[in-house]
Amino acid sequence: PEKRVAHWSYATCAYCSTGCSIELGLDSSGKVITSRGNAKADVNRGKLCIKGLLEHELFDSKGRGSEPLIRQHHHEPFAPASWQQAMDKTATAIKTIQEKHGRDAFAVVSTGQLLTEEFYTLGKLVRGCIGTNNYDGNTTLCMASAVSGYKRSFGSDGAPGCYDDFDKTDCLMAFGSNLPEQHPVIYWRLKEAREKRPFPLIVVDPRVTMFAQMADIHLAVTPGTDCVLINAMMYVIFDENLADTAFIEQHTKGLSELTKIIEDYNPKLAQKVCGIDEDTIRSVARLYAKAATAMSIWTMGINQSTHGSDGVVNINNLNLITGNIGKPGGTSLSITGQCNAMGTREWSSCSGLPGYRALENPEHRQQVADFWGITPDFFPEKRGLTETDIFPAIETGEIKGLWLVATNPMTSMPNTSRIRKALEKLDFLVVQDSYSDVETNQYAHVYLPAAIWAEKEGCFTNTERRINLTRKSVPNYANSQSDFWIFTQMAKYFDHGSKIPFPPSPELAFDEMKALSKGSERLLDISGMSYDKIEQATGIQWPCREGETGQARLYTDGHFPTADGKANLIGVSFFDNNEKPDKRYPFWLNSGRVVEHFHTRTRTGKIGNCNKFSPIPYMEMNPDAAKKLGVKHQEYVRLISRRSDAVAMVQLTHRVAPDMVFVPFHFFDCVNRLTLGLLDPHSRQPAFKQCAVRIVPV
Ligand code: SF4
Repeated sequence: PEKRVAHWSYATCAYCSTGCSIELGLDSSGKVITSRGNAKADVNRGKLCIKGLLEHELFDSKGRGSEPLIRQHHHEPFAPASWQQAMDKTATAIKTIQEKHGRDAFAVVSTGQLLTEEFYTLGKLVRGCIGTNNYDGNTTLCMASAVSGYKRSFGSDGAPGCYDDFDKTDCLMAFGSNLPEQHPVIYWRLKEAREKRPFPLIVVDPRVTMFAQMADIHLAVTPGTDCVLINAMMYVIFDENLADTAFIEQHTKGLSELTKIIEDYNPKLAQKVCGIDEDTIRSVARLYAKAATAMSIWTMGINQSTHGSDGVVNINNLNLITGNIGKPGGTSLSITGQCNAMGTREWSSCSGLPGYRALENPEHRQQVADFWGITPDFFPEKRGLTETDIFPAIETGEIKGLWLVATNPMTSMPNTSRIRKALEKLDFLVVQDSYSDVETNQYAHVYLPAAIWAEKEGCFTNTERRINLTRKSVPNYANSQSDFWIFTQMAKYFDHGSKIPFPPSPELAFDEMKALSKGSERLLDISGMSYDKIEQATGIQWPCREGETGQARLYTDGHFPTADGKANLIGVSFFDNNEKPDKRYPFWLNSGRVVEHFHTRTRTGKIGNCNKFSPIPYMEMNPDAAKKLGVKHQEYVRLISRRSDAVAMVQLTHRVAPDMVFVPFHFFDCVNRLTLGLLDPHSRQPAFKQCAVRIVPV
């Protein structure tokens, strides 16, 4: 198809947070016929994974929503409606619920998939016009623990490192991350760096993932015990005088509290809990601490846990005591999940106010209220419910109405039987999505069809704080509208909609965000950026102040955004509160991604070649365990947990231990029927990866 391309249009991949730069090839009639990696972009250097290569097939894929739909009750069929009718019905329902039950009785849950300008506009609508405090993003299911851990250690969210650190580091330790499948192009960057300049790669994961197979050292840790492993490593580092005492003294506080806790984690004892033998713990600790620079990366194996935030804090502790923050090759790099999980953290106001401002801070409330032209007392003084607390609040009747934007909790939340009952209980549910066949839409009263990806224009921020652009390449599908348009139109129904300025285009909204971000003391300053500059540079990392070109790393001067400028060392004790295998439910259940699919398959399930490689749910099982149960390769089994049951096809593999099974999380009515989802007390993120099941042949 490249021969038929008349014009290449600039875009950024809308799946994972790698942030690959894409060029979309349009033929002379304006139809997108192919896509390719942008060779000029340093992030991906011309590479794309299977999802990015086939992303242009999204525009007219099956299941796209072509017109707004409405109905009185969710058990009735939908009727087509005009935009005016659908918006009237939604605004009326929101106002009725709020008048009767209070402003917070209507909740909004968005996503990490929208463009940043859309997040900022949604924040204005929800915080400034609708005025509910029960507003969150599905990022609580993926990145909340990283956000919480960064804030506790360094005083702010924001990854301190970048991909260039792979080219500078002397040792890399990965926790709960299957990089080759979850973030294939980041993995390729790492592989390329190690080919040029070999350095040790240590992968911590209970499962023998593709990443673990490629590592020099694989630590098959007992599920949920990573804190014990890191504490034991720190025990060795202090015991053998390997810590960077000068860095600790100058740039951190809390050492004595940390060492007091670590005293209890002698590797001799720790090995019994975390499952890694004493000698290996000692060797890995020495390797990490003696490396001139060392870095840690992690994803859901850390975040999706009852102690996810503590896990992040402990990774930061490890890097702080070895002096590995703020220097090339020495960092704590949270590999983000969704394409714009960072954008929603930065600008959507889900957990606070735009530009990393906090609801709890009166100055921040005043700044945003002044900027938007309203009074600060309209804002709540602390954050409301997270997504994981919104559903229980529907059960108790505290929340009566819900707006879901580009998220699909019927597949993505833990214990989906409970989610189904909550959705059925709502007085009003509006689902806004590019696909009308998304499972959660079965329970909606209004469906709003949204334009997708390069039908719109705006920015994403990737894992390494790089803001990159997507240009509008094609017209909206059928009668769908951009999320940006939907939010600005909805604002008109509310009193503050006429007071708060809503710029007419994403680029003008970006200009407004730049103005709001400006300030020498602000970490998240984007005032030096513009759409043209971003495209020219193939992405710019924040902070980027006026006249600057962006910053690869944070905290390079050893100063942190805390009250005294020092990073916090916070001791983390292990608490064992997971559901664990027992006689009735003898297997650990683990879940994760496969390379062909993204999240709940709303998009990749419609793309032939993605779906072809992974069309149905399967369960990885150890051959020894299968033999005992009399189960054979490719037979179907029923997995049963204390919540519900699900059916999957058996794939025999030594990737999992005899007491563990693994099921990809992408499929509807499958693994999340089984998961328990206990919450992390700091981040409210659910533990998806630790619960118990039994297996029965069918
Ligand atoms: Fe898209 Fe991620 Fe694949 Fe890059 S690695 S093409 S960002 S899905």
